[in-house]
Amino acid sequence: MQTKQFQAESKRLLEMMINSIYSQREIFLRELISNASDAIDKLYYKALTDDRLSFDKDSYYIKIAADKDNRTLTISDTGIGMTQEDLENNLGIIAKSGSLAFKKENEAEDGHEIIGQFGVGFYSAFMVADKVTVITKALDSDTAYKWESSGAEGYTIQPCQKEAAGTEIILNIKENAEEESYDEYLEEYRLKAIIKKYSDFIRYPIKMDVTERKLKEGSESDFEEYKEEQIINSMVPIWRKNKNELTPEDYENFYAEKHYGFDKPLKHIHISVDGAIRYNAILFIPEKMPFDYYTSEYEKGLELYSNGVLIMNKCSDLLPDHFSFVEGMVDSDDLSLNISREILQHDRQLKLIAKNISKKIKSELQSLLKNEREKYEEFYQSFGRQLKYGVYSDYGTHKETLQDLIMFYSSKEKKLVTLDEYVSRMPEDQKYIFYASGESIERIDKLPQTEIVADKGYEILYFTDDIDEFAIKMLMAYKEKEFKSVSSGDLGFEEENKSDPAEESENKELFEYMKNALSSKVKDVRASKRLKSHPVCIAADGQVSIEMEKILKAMPN
Ligand code: ADP
Ligand code: MG
Repeated sequence: MQTKQFQAESKRLLEMMINSIYSQREIFLRELISNASDAIDKLYYKALTDDRLSFDKDSYYIKIAADKDNRTLTISDTGIGMTQEDLENNLGIIAKSGSLAFKKENEAEDGHEIIGQFGVGFYSAFMVADKVTVITKALDSDTAYKWESSGAEGYTIQPCQKEAAGTEIILNIKENAEEESYDEYLEEYRLKAIIKKYSDFIRYPIKMDVTERKLKEGSESDFEEYKEEQIINSMVPIWRKNKNELTPEDYENFYAEKHYGFDKPLKHIHISVDGAIRYNAILFIPEKMPFDYYTSEYEKGLELYSNGVLIMNKCSDLLPDHFSFVEGMVDSDDLSLNISREILQHDRQLKLIAKNISKKIKSELQSLLKNEREKYEEFYQSFGRQLKYGVYSDYGTHKETLQDLIMFYSSKEKKLVTLDEYVSRMPEDQKYIFYASGESIERIDKLPQTEIVADKGYEILYFTDDIDEFAIKMLMAYKEKEFKSVSSGDLGFEEENKSDPAEESENKELFEYMKNALSSKVKDVRASKRLKSHPVCIAADGQVSIEMEKILKAMPN
């Protein structure tokens, strides 16, 4: 029998994981249980769409069995099982995708958050086991296989005996080391607690033989112990539970269990609608930006369930682009199960749900802005740009949604402010909403053009993001106040328009000379009333500002 090597990168990741995840060791059980549940889901889904198969709910379950004498913990399921090829592909390669680059960047950090992000959940077993054996038989297959590995060295696969389809994962729990004890993972009460904590809402029964005590027959004080198979989880999915029964930790655990993100959610939104459309949803606004968020790799979407069965991992139709950072799931009884992707796009129910969800997200963000300003600003640091892109690209349909959620740095407040805040403190005589574009706040502070506006006591919004000015051009005005760049030719100040003919003619020669010298760079040279402490400034005449011109020039054609 030949031992196959893990791919080199896998080996390093495996080592890193095994050695750095001590604080969160218990989550290995969550990972293995959720894999078992996924495997039963796959079978269930198949049965629902394939007439040859029937799904008898009672014969599908997950079983946890601890054997203290042999130091083994076994997680078995009656799911879809794996073929030899599946074993090679699924358990032989860790971190398949571009996730590796990300992993490298984060190598120094406590690694526990990385688990499960990239389909490495299974390997978390090596945190508590020195050997892992997988015995599995795929549905529709005659042969069962045994996969075995003692960690980083590699693995073996050989045929073996197994009656029914499904998978059995046997962990050889590590021996206790000096300061490390692994015994707890063989203790009933600990296992029960871990299952309750992370896997309570798994839809299939998680069974375990639990030791109970009863009075000995004929005795009033002598007890005897006996084993009884019990179902440990409540099996009610969290999204079907009453909000009042759930704690923030429940939502955080769900977020982690589902691998929605490797951070903690900034906010959760639990929706239960029971009207013309009926659905339950749990949505999360992540705290941190996913590492690939502003790349084409990032895939938006929510998990879609039909009556408790997962039918799609990333249903993108449920989220508008400007809210693409939202993670979570939707479950509706009104959707047909074997609905195809194409039909889904035209599904009326789904459209209604999407609209409803979008509204909810908006109002949650608004209340966050109103009531938890700091949190909102944290959110805005990560995802504000996406909202501004939304203003720019989805302007026609989403102006109302987005214009109140965007913020800019203010010259007066020295922090982020909303357009509403800006407009509500505008003095009577101020006609426009003034803004200045530049690379950074410090640079804009030094712009000569800001001086006259600031001197008038007007607030200036600083545009430091490429998208800012483009977005604002789409908006044109907010509450009937037009936006005006401090660099534009006409700022609407009275004194500015009265040019001084004497001054113009006096300097006519000088201006002509300057204009010629700068012929390809400027259109005109004029005397200006706008300047205070600076000798010159550049002003733009047309619709496109100097900053926008720079960006447009830098864009690939
Ligand atoms: P993920 O669950 O994120 O895909 P894992 O490392 O947890 O990543 O599992 C890798 C893959 O191994 C799964 O996607 C699945 O195909 C397969 N697998 C793991 N456990 C089981 C199981 N109990 N039954 C069937 N397939 C499994
Ligand atoms: Mg998994």
